[in-house]
Amino acid sequence: MLSVVIPAFNEQENIPVTAERMKEILSPITEYELIFVDDGSKDNTWQIIKELSEKDTSVKGLHFSRNFGKEGAIFAGLKAASGDCVAVIDCDLQHPPELLPKMLDAWNNGAEVVEAVKASRGKEGIIYKLFAKTFYRMMKNSANVDLDGASDYKLMDRKVVDALNDMPERLTFFRALSCWVGFKTEKIEFDVAPRNAGKTKWSFRKLFRYALSSITSFTNVPMQIITVSGILFFIFALILGIQTIVNFCSGNAADGFSTVILLILIVGSILMLGIGIIGYYLSKIYEEIKCRPRYIVSERAGDMEQEKKR
Ligand code: UDP
Ligand code: MG
Repeated sequence: MLSVVIPAFNEQENIPVTAERMKEILSPITEYELIFVDDGSKDNTWQIIKELSEKDTSVKGLHFSRNFGKEGAIFAGLKAASGDCVAVIDCDLQHPPELLPKMLDAWNNGAEVVEAVKASRGKEGIIYKLFAKTFYRMMKNSANVDLDGASDYKLMDRKVVDALNDMPERLTFFRALSCWVGFKTEKIEFDVAPRNAGKTKWSFRKLFRYALSSITSFTNVPMQIITVSGILFFIFALILGIQTIVNFCSGNAADGFSTVILLILIVGSILMLGIGIIGYYLSKIYEEIKCRPRYIVSERAGDMEQEKKR
């Protein structure tokens, strides 16, 4: 059976359309369930999901107590999924559901993760593109995960989903984690379609915060930059210090100048090193302390036995 996880935040116009399209495409080829995860929507999204689940047993739903973000919604869906393979797809039909049969084929032929990668990025502004590029480059260089063209549109084998469900960390980044776990991966290209209805749910601020938290939850490199610059500064201070002492001994120095320079250099480099080391410990503590739940489910719709057991 195929489980389809669909995060939805204020998507009342899109839910019925998406459910209908999925039914058209999936019912002839496989048994399936649709798990809509309502990420604390303010509109009628949850009512619509509940009504659908009463009419159609393959539709299930989870409702969050507030907006926890797409990551939480995806992971709640993965936990609730009972299929042999699980697909994650956006609610706004920007991820073409027509690709699902192709992804299923790839899975049947042995792929454990089938990634849909963006062949074109659809309509996006220049600044947005620039930020996306920079973010992807940083992730690649520091965390060694290649996210260029990556999307959250994926189909995963049960093994992969179990591996993801077993991850204890709280600050997740699905796109990178599903790459980090490894497994036999196959890529299929798609063109990003325009949004079906409604506006994008990401403001620039929200996206920027998302990028920042993804970087810090995946790598300690930014913290190490401080330590490394502390060390570099210390070497620089040593050289300059020696030069100052030489000048002082040969009588070339202005009165009192040497003492001031030496003090600044020593105090500066020790401070920098100290901050770097504290930062490093902080990053360790921060890694350990992630034990708050990723999301809180307040209501369920349809048969959710699987989800309650876990
Ligand atoms: N989404 C969510 N929680 C949020 C923001 C978005 O569950 O806080 C869902 C949204 O309903 C949609 C998907 O994530 O199904 C992608 O959102 P959107 O289409 O707004 O993003 P974009 O396609 O512009 O990147
Ligand atoms: Mg979208």
